[in-house]
Amino acid sequence: MSDTIKKVCVIGAGTMGAGIAAQVANAGVPVLLLDIVPKEGANRNAVAEGAVAKMLKTEPAPFMSKSAAKLVETGNIEDHLDKVAECDWVIEAVIERLDIKQGLYAKLEAVKRDGTAVSSNTSTIPLANLVEGRSEAFKRDFLITHFFNPPRYMRLLEIVTGPATDAGVAAKVEQFADVSLGKTVVKAKDTPGFIANRIGTYWIQLGLNAAFDMGITVELADAIAGKPMGVPKTGVFGLVDLVGIDLMPHLQASLTSTLPAGELYHGIARDIPLINKMIGEGYTGRKGKGGFYRLNKEAGRRKETIDLQTGEYRPTVTAQGPRGAAAKGDLKALVESKGEIGAYAWAVLGDTLAYAASLVPDAASDVVAVDDAMKLGYNWKSGPFEMIDKLGAKYLADRLAAEGKAVPAILTVAGDRTFYRIENGKRQFLGLDGEYRDVVRPEGVMRLADVKLSSKPIIRNASAALWDIGDGVVCLEFTGKMNALDGEVMKLIGQAIPLVAAQYKALVVYNDADTFSAGANLGLALFAVNIAAWGEIEKLVAGGQLAYKGLKYAPFPVVGAPAGMALGGGCEILLHCDAIQAHAELYCGLVECGVGLVPGWGGNGEMIDRWRNAPGMPKGPMPAVAKVFEMVSTAQVSKSAQQAREMMILRKGDGISMNRDRLLYDAKQKALSLVEDYTPPEAPEFKLPGAGGRTALGLAVEGFHKRGMATDYDVVVSGVLADVLTGGDAFDLVDTVSEGEMLKLERDAFMGRLRDDRSVARVEHMLETGKPLRN
Ligand code: NAD
Repeated sequence: MSDTIKKVCVIGAGTMGAGIAAQVANAGVPVLLLDIVPKEGANRNAVAEGAVAKMLKTEPAPFMSKSAAKLVETGNIEDHLDKVAECDWVIEAVIERLDIKQGLYAKLEAVKRDGTAVSSNTSTIPLANLVEGRSEAFKRDFLITHFFNPPRYMRLLEIVTGPATDAGVAAKVEQFADVSLGKTVVKAKDTPGFIANRIGTYWIQLGLNAAFDMGITVELADAIAGKPMGVPKTGVFGLVDLVGIDLMPHLQASLTSTLPAGELYHGIARDIPLINKMIGEGYTGRKGKGGFYRLNKEAGRRKETIDLQTGEYRPTVTAQGPRGAAAKGDLKALVESKGEIGAYAWAVLGDTLAYAASLVPDAASDVVAVDDAMKLGYNWKSGPFEMIDKLGAKYLADRLAAEGKAVPAILTVAGDRTFYRIENGKRQFLGLDGEYRDVVRPEGVMRLADVKLSSKPIIRNASAALWDIGDGVVCLEFTGKMNALDGEVMKLIGQAIPLVAAQYKALVVYNDADTFSAGANLGLALFAVNIAAWGEIEKLVAGGQLAYKGLKYAPFPVVGAPAGMALGGGCEILLHCDAIQAHAELYCGLVECGVGLVPGWGGNGEMIDRWRNAPGMPKGPMPAVAKVFEMVSTAQVSKSAQQAREMMILRKGDGISMNRDRLLYDAKQKALSLVEDYTPPEAPEFKLPGAGGRTALGLAVEGFHKRGMATDYDVVVSGVLADVLTGGDAFDLVDTVSEGEMLKLERDAFMGRLRDDRSVARVEHMLETGKPLRN
């Protein structure tokens, strides 16, 4: 048995199979994607081929880069099943029918190697039924791997093993799913719906039932069972619209037919006439004619909501949802709110939490598995047991008892204790035996939040902090809103450099947030413009340049470790690092032109330097400048780390971590690998194309302008950018331009734009709406 997975086969190229195959390809691993032979047409691979072609047009994109699609080989199960012998893992994602799945396994058994893992993506069929009739050898290699939709973006993977599953086979799949596919593996028991969908379906059913029973509006229901509970703002009705209303009866039928008699779900499952009527008429949600919400095209795309009592659409209204503490995550305040808000919140949350608590240990072995499943599978901010901690286990138990409801055993075990506690700097959870144990994460998983439990920052101010993350490495963390960058961040960098040089080995720029950094704090900049504090602004620009170059030339390695958005100044700091270790989901770019500015913290020179050293670049200064101009003038943002590599933001030696939870660890390892014999880079010198180059770039922009793709002011801003990148009138081909001179060019250009009202209008608009103004 080989212990690594070098090639994967996915059978079933539908929603899930195709998406899973894309994620395998995103990991750089070749994948064979098979489906049935279509009844008509000469192309026997048409189904799988069609699935790949469709994915190349889908948004949000299943592929991280177009080049990943080349790793998917397509075929059909009649002609190509024997190729399974080349694969180390076969993922079955065909339609949810036991007979079809069993028939396929019989054929697979004849062609697969011993030790090649086979897993089913089934949502509902017990593992015991799937392997009926198969040999012991097949059963040893078999497990369930339940991905969530869409497979690239949903981080949860529930894994179920059977009594015969070989531990080594399961470990191999788990390791690959975690490290290569970036999933957080939650081990579930072989029970209906596993963990996330079982709780999720219960929660949805409660939400629907209570809204109909209490006669409250769809908007109010979602305003209660959404953000105030730390649940996505789609709430219950919006979520059902998203996943498809027609899925509801299937989920319900599957759970009622498989859950044992007397299980709590039987008590709440019900047929809702309005839902049946909606499905019958094609109102199946966002993919259909509309759902509980719709955009009425006949009424100018007016947003409408269904009236639960009459079944008629009416204009959507903004509900007066919870206020104060109840709106801000105080769950006790929420369920104790007066009137229908508190009543609905309690009806949905109280019973959902009680249900989740009842699933340990039969469906999930501990509370951590339940919490991880709901946070990663349903995007809840806190898992059910973390919510119970907020509410109070005793409060929940007492209130359930007062209503004559069963109190789950684990709530009684907890008594007035919490399910989680911090002990000696370690997070611990409560077991059914009443003992606390450390929450153990897989080797190589590291979060700054864990470091914070057991230490204090080395230094900190209002916008940044510096943490000791062990082995001589420190972590620079941004802490402002959206991790925006300001003078405080730059000040802290200035303090950190001598400190790290004297006492540590390396520095990593990283934070746990979803947004690495939204860039410079534009609100502050706007304020300074409004009071005409030009000197202050110039100081901020120069201070940022100084701080970033300080990092670049520091006598120790610096590794940037971004995840999510890294825009403007947030991208520029990465460009100054010795290396980047990026999370695969990296949305990175120099977006300054979008707000009427140009990169001002060294981004222009760093990008030119990257492009002129890119493999295969033609000689002369113009090709690199033209590449950078194209990227920056259009405010291009990568849609993955792989795309950031294609944009030369990531360079050859830079790494990509597929699993978000491994990013900090991987970055730290990268930093340590650079420590021995570290020498800072030499300052580059530039040859710029001068006024001739600027004219060429200007012509290109003029073309866009004529075709209506660039506004009048876009032409002005990109002209200023072209001045910086080409040297404009300041430098010509014969000149050697120092890094310092390059910085001065961009600083002056930046200040010039900020003095223009049209740029200020763009900044204001961005701050108010989050969207660019096309003036
Ligand atoms: P789908 O209907 O989109 O795709 C099913 C695919 O299977 C189709 O392309 C079909 O042609 C193919 N197929 C049918 N019979 C086949 C056979 N004998 N051999 C090979 N291919 C065959 O379905 P889906 O939503 O992708 O679901 C696939 C599996 O994943 C099901 O078991 C489902 O329960 C599970 N699942 C679905 C979701 C989801 O959100 N859609 C989530 C988790 C798990």
